[in-house]
Amino acid sequence: MVKSPRVVKRYCPTCKKHRPHEVERVKKRKASELAAGQRRFRRGKPTKRQPVRYRCQTCKKAHQAPVKRSKVFEIKE
Ligand SMILES: [Zn+2]
Repeated sequence: MVKSPRVVKRYCPTCKKHRPHEVERVKKRKASELAAGQRRFRRGKPTKRQPVRYRCQTCKKAHQAPVKRSKVFEIKE
């Protein structure tokens, strides 16, 4: 299980500095049957790499990056 704090300090490519980023969940779209992650899921190892959107609190730009493979992903208060 991966637990993430609501605000993390990360590099912002727009500000070109480390800034506090808000962690947001990315809404799920329909899975593509040809994607590597979906083929892995069909083989019977259903852990997912939850994509997470990091929004810079200074410039409000968002950057997306997946977290490590896990069954459960939580954002702590
Ligand atoms: Zn920024």
